[in-house]
Amino acid sequence: MTFRSKAFEIALNRIAPVLTPPHEKVADLYGSNTFSDDVMRTLLSPEAYVKISNAIRSGSTIDREVAEEVSAAMKSWAISKGATHYTHWFQPLTGSTAEKHDSFFDLTIDGKAVEKFKGSALVQQEPDASSFPSGGLRATFEARGYTGWDPSSPAFLMDNGAGGKTLCIPSVFISYTGEALDYKAPLLRSLVMLDKAATSVCQFFNRDVDKVTPTLGIEQEYFLVDKALYYARPDLLMTGRTVFGHSPARGQQLDDHYFGSISPRVNAFMVDFEFEALKLGIPVRTRHNEVAPGQFECAPTFEEVNLAIDHNALLMDLMQKIGEKHNFQVLFHEKPFAGINGSGKHNNWSLSTDTGINLLAPTTKPKENLRFLTFLLNVVKAVHDHADLLRASISSAGNEHRLGANEAPPSIVSVFLGGELTSMLEELVNKGEITLEKGENFYYKLGITRIPNLQRDNTDRNRTSPFCFTGNKFEYRAVGSALNSASPMIVLNTIVANQLAEFKREMDERLSSGEEKKVATVAILKRYFTESKKILFEGNGYSEEWVEEAKRRGLSNISATYDALYAYVTESTIRAFEKTGVLTSRELHARYEIELENYVKKLQIESRVISDLALNHVVSTVVKYQFKLAQTARALTDLEMLEEAEPIKEIIKDISSHVVVIKKLVHEMTEKRKVANNLEDLLERARMYGSEVKGFFEEIRYHVDKLELLIDDEDWPLAKYREMLFLE
Ligand code: ADP
Ligand code: MG
Repeated sequence: MTFRSKAFEIALNRIAPVLTPPHEKVADLYGSNTFSDDVMRTLLSPEAYVKISNAIRSGSTIDREVAEEVSAAMKSWAISKGATHYTHWFQPLTGSTAEKHDSFFDLTIDGKAVEKFKGSALVQQEPDASSFPSGGLRATFEARGYTGWDPSSPAFLMDNGAGGKTLCIPSVFISYTGEALDYKAPLLRSLVMLDKAATSVCQFFNRDVDKVTPTLGIEQEYFLVDKALYYARPDLLMTGRTVFGHSPARGQQLDDHYFGSISPRVNAFMVDFEFEALKLGIPVRTRHNEVAPGQFECAPTFEEVNLAIDHNALLMDLMQKIGEKHNFQVLFHEKPFAGINGSGKHNNWSLSTDTGINLLAPTTKPKENLRFLTFLLNVVKAVHDHADLLRASISSAGNEHRLGANEAPPSIVSVFLGGELTSMLEELVNKGEITLEKGENFYYKLGITRIPNLQRDNTDRNRTSPFCFTGNKFEYRAVGSALNSASPMIVLNTIVANQLAEFKREMDERLSSGEEKKVATVAILKRYFTESKKILFEGNGYSEEWVEEAKRRGLSNISATYDALYAYVTESTIRAFEKTGVLTSRELHARYEIELENYVKKLQIESRVISDLALNHVVSTVVKYQFKLAQTARALTDLEMLEEAEPIKEIIKDISSHVVVIKKLVHEMTEKRKVANNLEDLLERARMYGSEVKGFFEEIRYHVDKLELLIDDEDWPLAKYREMLFLE
């Protein structure tokens, strides 16, 4: 019996656990494992509570005394709920989350046991930074890095199993010299800048708006594989994706998985992690099957961007932990299985004011729709001007399998507005000069009154557009399922902040020369529309025609990660980031380097895994099988059954031909890898890995997958697609 067949048997015999759902209503349970506003109100003095609330709302600094009070309250709250340790929880540029647990327990000088958690420990910690990527920001002699408390994201309790709980404090991670080594620090900076720019533009329309909060709802796609089968796939274990595997006869052609009924085992897993997520204050709301077999989606209600991103990172963590309990491995890789859909993380993004307005929602009032169009077109212009940077922000070795493949948004960045909205905008531009006669209805004349009706009709969701307007928000769909959403959100916030600041500047100029406000707004918007029109696309984004059309329009189509990443260090990017102070040129260069390094490492591992599996699992098994065949053929020959021996000999030959090629290709790939590893220049190394080394992957796979069809099913060593994908 092979390891694979044992694993399959285990997977087949699993039964869905019976869950006892919590007694409380969801509303009572929600956030019970967080150091929430309610908890703070109860535990803090009124003065401290006001100060911390202000810090959360407006980013004012927290003084020592308040920090002391908060840490004392946090400690007693956490300990009362069973916590023994605390940690600063942060998001380094490795793409996962990091924590280093310290115990509350300590000894006093005279040896007495106490539980300690000082204000200073809440505010700042010093993890060893040398094991995190820094892209040259940190010379070894200054290997120190600091984590700093982010009060705007509530501390929470993480259950580590076996009874231990840890108080996790969301934090930024910066180098000794103050440069960002994580996602959160620049994200927070970008949010402040966007608030500032959007608020000042908003005030052209609504004087009472003091704050604009960017909002984000992240739809998370993932695959589930039974744990036993996962262990029967060393490639999944090491790289997160299957490097070999023949497509099953029934893939997703029937489209019968999408929104199909959820199997009891999967449902139990979902219910379980959702309850835990709710306790952590993650507002999970939607669950369903996805298009591919074995693929699912989870979507929370949208929140302020920083919270939404922390919650997504936490959710991914939580899903892995709960998956463990249910004998599932959660796959967040963008393309775990060839030939069927990959996974994304759709980022639904909008802007909302402190007066309750969604700035990207059309309304029934024409005057407000001028404001709507202002924000809409500023976003479109920003995306148009920095399309390559947005593309760079979602580049990774994993997402490379998705972008440009024929089942996911292509690597061309385009914006979908919906046909009707686009033609309305065309009309607006074609209306010509706006000279207003007295008594004339300005909005009527421009056709702005029609927007709400158009939007209601605009139900055609374009599922092939990487960046689409969906009625009251933009949805960046090309984001990879494993990525930290902060990466694209830092970029989006920054470029939109810059664009809005530019709009404000132009408005001020026109107004000071005596132009009427409405007229000035429309004039600028008309120009923006004309200038950025080429990025708008309504058709099928996956089609060959679009690739041709985009080329004619002069849009970039950068499919290789190593080329795409370059946008991080171009002049226009550096200008946009330095102007807003979100990242310095040095920090951008560091990020560029880190991403290239990540890319090289991922491909290096994949290449090694491919060699290992091809030779030590596949070829070795195949050769044994060949021997069995040879014995059979010989026996038939001995019996003078020459004709009968013929087809068996054919199979032996067929197998041999594949084995010969595989051995040759693996050897050549290994040689290429050696050459690549010796390249001094990082970009050259990434390029060689991404083109030449990676070039072997599909070729080797082709021959291995052929062998999968030739070998006795009993003998094949790797769990097959049909076994992994059709969970019941
Ligand atoms: P679908 O796109 O599948 O039809 P929805 O439109 O309900 O689903 O929402 C998808 C995601 O977009 C959800 O996470 C939802 O909370 C989020 N979303 C809805 N409105 C906003 C908004 N104003 N800002 C940010 N995200 C939003
Ligand atoms: Mg959606």
